[in-house]
Parts: sequence; C-alpha cells; structure tokens
Amino acid sequence: VAIVVGVDLGGTKVQSALVQSRKVIGQGRVRTPSGGADEVVEAILGTIDIALGESKAKRSDISAVGIGFPGQFDASSGDTLGAVNLKGFQERYPLSRKISKAIAGAPVALDNDVRAALLGEYQLGSGRGFKNLLGIFVGTGVGGGLVLDGRVRHGRGASGEVGHTVVMDRGLECGCGRLGCLEAYAGRGRMEVRARQMVEKGEKTILFEIMKKKDRDRLTSGVFAAALDADDRMARRLIDDAVWALGISLASVQNILDLEAIIVGGGLGDRLGAPFVKRVAEAMQPHLFISQNPPELLNTTLGDLSGAVGAALLAAGEGLEVSS
Ligand SMILES: [Zn+2]
Repeated sequence: VAIVVGVDLGGTKVQSALVQSRKVIGQGRVRTPSGGADEVVEAILGTIDIALGESKAKRSDISAVGIGFPGQFDASSGDTLGAVNLKGFQERYPLSRKISKAIAGAPVALDNDVRAALLGEYQLGSGRGFKNLLGIFVGTGVGGGLVLDGRVRHGRGASGEVGHTVVMDRGLECGCGRLGCLEAYAGRGRMEVRARQMVEKGEKTILFEIMKKKDRDRLTSGVFAAALDADDRMARRLIDDAVWALGISLASVQNILDLEAIIVGGGLGDRLGAPFVKRVAEAMQPHLFISQNPPELLNTTLGDLSGAVGAALLAAGEGLEVSS
C-alpha cells in the first residue's frame, strides 16, 4: 500500500508525517534552520528520514510528497516565490525539484501551509462530519481556511484570511502593515512586540525570564502558557486581548457564513487547549446574531501534526475537491 509523506514547513519547525491508508505511521520534527534554503531542504529530508526510521521504510517506498508552504509559490513549476517568515526563501527557489530528486523522483505537491492544516483536521481530525467550517490557526500569525459545502474554499487564492479581519478601526499595527487586524492582537509575533514595548515603558513581566529559562529566542506558546500558570499580569492582559479580538472576528465570520464548527488550532490554540477555546466561544456570544445557535468551537485533534498530515493527504490526491 502506498506510503505518502507530508511536510509542514514553518518558521519555527519542520515537521513530517508518513501516512499509509489514512493513518500516520511515522513522524519527525526539527527546529527550522536559519542558514538558508539548502539547509532547510536538508532539514526536511532529515525529518522524513526520522519518520521513515520509525516505520522501517525507505525513501524509495514513498510514492508522493506534499509540502505545506508558508508563502507564495508557483504550483505548476513547484518553485517557491517568497515567504516572509522563512529565512532564505525570499527569492524563487526550486523546492519541489530538490525534494523530488532526493526522494527517488517522487512527485511533489505544494500548497499553502494553513490550507494543508485545515485539510488534515477536516479529513482526519476534529472537522470530520462537518460540511461547513472554519479552521483558525493562532500562531506567530493568525491563519485561516474555510470548508464550505464540503469543499475547501480557495476563492481567487486568498480565501479564509480571518487573521486580517478588522477588529478595531485604526487599532494596533498588524504584521501585514495595516491597522486593527485580528492578528495584531492575537498573533504571537505582534503580542511579543507589544510585550517588549510595555517592558520598555517599565512594566513588569516574567515572560522574558521564562523565555530564557526555556532556551527560546521568542515568546512561544509554551512561554505564554507558563507565564499564565504563574499568573503573570502582562501575559494575562495579552491573552485577554487575544480572546477579545478572536471573539469579535469569529462572531462576524459566523454571522456571514452560519458555520457548523470552528476549529481553533495553531501554537496558542493547541497549547492553551480547551479552556482557551471556551473563553473564545464566550467572547463571541454577545456578537452573534443568532445567539441561541452558535457553531461548535473545537480544539484540533491532530495538534501540531495537522499541517503535515494535511500535506500528506494532498500528496495522496485526497481532499482535492476544491471550490473556487
Ligand atoms: Zn493584517
């Protein structure tokens, strides 16, 4: 039976999952290297080899590769065109060709990383059984994707960008350069910028101590979780703001689309778990037009594997039914 591999290529980690008959039979993950694109290719192959070792298979057993990429790409050539959060990928790079060559010529399919994660959850995770859902991935940025009437919605290529819905007119600056987007309040990257600004103004927090203790160079979801456990005031305030912004944005999405479910994933969603998702559901409530029939708000089932599993499903040619 064919083995396919999915790769989730992120700014923080590279993760691979081997999938056979819709089951994960091996996985591997490393921190994303910062030495450029060739080094990232080596890291990808390294995670694939770890996954293969777990399942006692070889590179030549792989029939197809799917990669979830966090940026722009040319689907026909398999070249990547640019990615803001990935060092060494600012110019055109033949990612698919390089990986294919190393994996015995296996075909390589590229797709957007968030859409891959959505597909993983929709087909093998929390989204099973729903026909209309939003997947929102709260990480360094805030990504999202939609399934409508059982099909992944592409639009003209940029459907589901819930992170850039506006929650505050002339609000905080977002990673995209605009003001007042959801991501400006709920994206970890912008939360860290705010934390540093508050520290400069003399406010106290243990966020950065925890970061150093954990040997991290940024405020990861784990750092936020630990600071919340220690009842750090700044961490609490930043998370409160994120919950508030998610409530406004997701309620607005709900009022337009009348979804059956919303899956909250990404580092923050996974790490802070069910209590966080419950708070977001409560924050949505006052803004819901049909408040007695809210969507189900769910955590992911696959956790940080959703992206890699979804990319593997892409490679297998599943979930390719797409509406535009
Ligand atoms: Zn934005």
